Amino acid sequence: MLCVMKKLMMKIIDTIDEMRKYISECQVSDKSIGLVPTMGYLHKGHMSLAERSVFENDITILSIFVNPAQFAPNEDFEKYPRNMEQDCNLADKAGVDVVFAPAADDMYGKGYSTYIDVLGVSQPLCGLSRPGHFRGVATVVAKLFNICKAQKAYFGQKDFQQTKVIERMVKDLNMDIDIVVCPIVREKDGLAMSSRNVYLTNEQREQATCLYRSLEEAKRMIGRGEKRIEIIHKRVKEVICQNNLAEIEYVSILDAENLNDIQSIEQDAVLALAVKFGSTRLIDNCVLKSVKKVSSETWKKPFAN
Ligand code: AMP
Repeated sequence: MLCVMKKLMMKIIDTIDEMRKYISECQVSDKSIGLVPTMGYLHKGHMSLAERSVFENDITILSIFVNPAQFAPNEDFEKYPRNMEQDCNLADKAGVDVVFAPAADDMYGKGYSTYIDVLGVSQPLCGLSRPGHFRGVATVVAKLFNICKAQKAYFGQKDFQQTKVIERMVKDLNMDIDIVVCPIVREKDGLAMSSRNVYLTNEQREQATCLYRSLEEAKRMIGRGEKRIEIIHKRVKEVICQNNLAEIEYVSILDAENLNDIQSIEQDAVLALAVKFGSTRLIDNCVLKSVKKVSSETWKKPFAN
């Protein structure tokens, strides 16, 4: 059991064996289980997922596991921010029933050899810049699903591509679980909340709002009837490049359903960004809703007699 100073209502479980025992008890009493997978260093984005799960299920399990399998050797696994005590206090306040925080060698024991590769949706965007990342994500999420036997699992739209990978995996492997995708929670100035925001210097933090501003600009363009990908793409890049510390990794507009390339916005599209500030890599996205032209024949005045 982990040492946490404050008296908590919820349980902290740190072994798979103990988790399995707890799940069996929940099943005997026919309790519905919601799972919120995280890497910890919790913020309001994570808490929105936890609160939704608490509202929709009898039991909410929030997992905290910085998953080595989803980090490349040159990435920030070692320095990824961690604060178990603060996380437990926040989870407890949100009404979470169990924090599940397994050790890496419990999750990936000696001789571990099984990984899940979701083709297609894993390949563009972060799949190009972080090879192997989604393989690690899909594998750990599948393991958490098997251990926790939840009926529902909660993910943030903040990691749009991740939600597509998980949805595809669940469908393809006939996993009996509902995936609930929750909206992006932002700071007052629009920056998407992220555990990695703590890496930013004051100057980088100020400039980082350009991600949100560029997404809003794209939405305005769509609202004015712009459908041409290359025009929106160019403008989004301009907004970001006005900031001298921003280094674009990708700005991409893809089919929101399957992440395929598109030529113009005829169906819902996702505008996805990855931008580096120094060594800190931020991602953000928004869904660009296609504006369907309403013909005068089909359009009926609301409430007209
Ligand atoms: P992480 O700890 O970064 O792996 O995130 C755990 C879960 O929280 C993922 O499903 C994320 O998409 C979600 N999440 C992270 N940041 C946000 C945010 N700002 N708004 C909503 N969900 C978020």
